[in-house]
Amino acid sequence: MTVNQKPDTFNGSKHWPGLIKAYRSFLPISDKTPIITLQEGSTPLIPVDSISRLIGKKVKVYIKYDGLNPTGSFKDRGMTMAISKAKEQSCKAVICASTGNTSASAAAYAKRGGMKAFVLIPEGYVAQGKLAQALVYGAEVLSIKGNFDKALEIVQKVSDNFPVTLVNSVNPYRLQGQKTAAFEIIDSLGESPDFLCIPVGNAGNITAYWMGFNEYLKASKSTKVPKMMGFQAKGSAPIVNKKIIKDPQTIATAIRIGNPVNWEKALKVKEESNGEFFEVSDEEIINAYKILGQKEGIFCEPASAASIAGLIKIKERIPEESNIVCVLTGNGLKDPDCAIKNNDAIFHTNLDPSLDSVIKTMGL
Ligand SMILES: *Cc1c(COP(=O)(O)O)cnc(C)c1O
Repeated sequence: MTVNQKPDTFNGSKHWPGLIKAYRSFLPISDKTPIITLQEGSTPLIPVDSISRLIGKKVKVYIKYDGLNPTGSFKDRGMTMAISKAKEQSCKAVICASTGNTSASAAAYAKRGGMKAFVLIPEGYVAQGKLAQALVYGAEVLSIKGNFDKALEIVQKVSDNFPVTLVNSVNPYRLQGQKTAAFEIIDSLGESPDFLCIPVGNAGNITAYWMGFNEYLKASKSTKVPKMMGFQAKGSAPIVNKKIIKDPQTIATAIRIGNPVNWEKALKVKEESNGEFFEVSDEEIINAYKILGQKEGIFCEPASAASIAGLIKIKERIPEESNIVCVLTGNGLKDPDCAIKNNDAIFHTNLDPSLDSVIKTMGL
């Protein structure tokens, strides 16, 4: 298979127009929909040979690097749709609950569309980079002494009772936008992969990908669909453990969710695709995070590394010569604290500012 990520032209221009214009015919928009875009999408599909070798059996592993979207996570795919539709409906303000990335994305797109953004976050559990984004984009941030699940309960009630549009993944337009990642994978590979490995929090993204793969199959852009492999973090794995987790814990804050909104849909995806769900420990997540950084030059946030950690964990189940895509949902720069605490770098400090001391320290 050859990787040919970007179609050569869009209406005669080489410039990627954002995913709504690129996949217009697959999306619920009309000529009246104002398109609010930061030219999200068209993220690279990158072969990761060190991971392929680790799995063995002549498999080919790629990562879908969705951390390269405009606000650094796949949430932008859904947000361009949700905010464009909100704008079409003359909405003036949006609200979301967020472990960080949804708030960053909602704030950016809402502001670009001339709307207010209110974001509820769980106090103490939002990575620094994400909080910085929401603040810089000028969202109104409400930090609650409770977890994500509680925050979501509140924002749902707010949007039910006040003129504020909810942009969490219960908003159907979010998944419509997010399904385009599956289109891009098939456009790149020329066919569907055999497996898709993906981190699962609220299970919106796995649902969106499944929708995308099926729509492309129906449109004869592919001849098969992948097995969908969902990975939750141990300590925050309600779907795997078949029970709501009251106090979810994990280093992967983006998937620190105890009661996923799209739980039923996720089970359907698993069944229809012959897929499976597993949990991965924080240790396995950090191991994968380090491999991606040190062997591939790819920096993702810990939640994203769950897809690679999961693949490594289930490698015995992968047949020979499979094509596997692992989704890297968010950028590593989102969570600098995690990076600084979890690396194997050699970091010399307090050196004299002299040639001598530098070459001596380098061992030359
Ligand atoms: C939101 C998010 C997830 C989880 O996606 P769901 O649709 O909630 O399952 C995973 N990784 C990152 C980086 C995220 O921001």
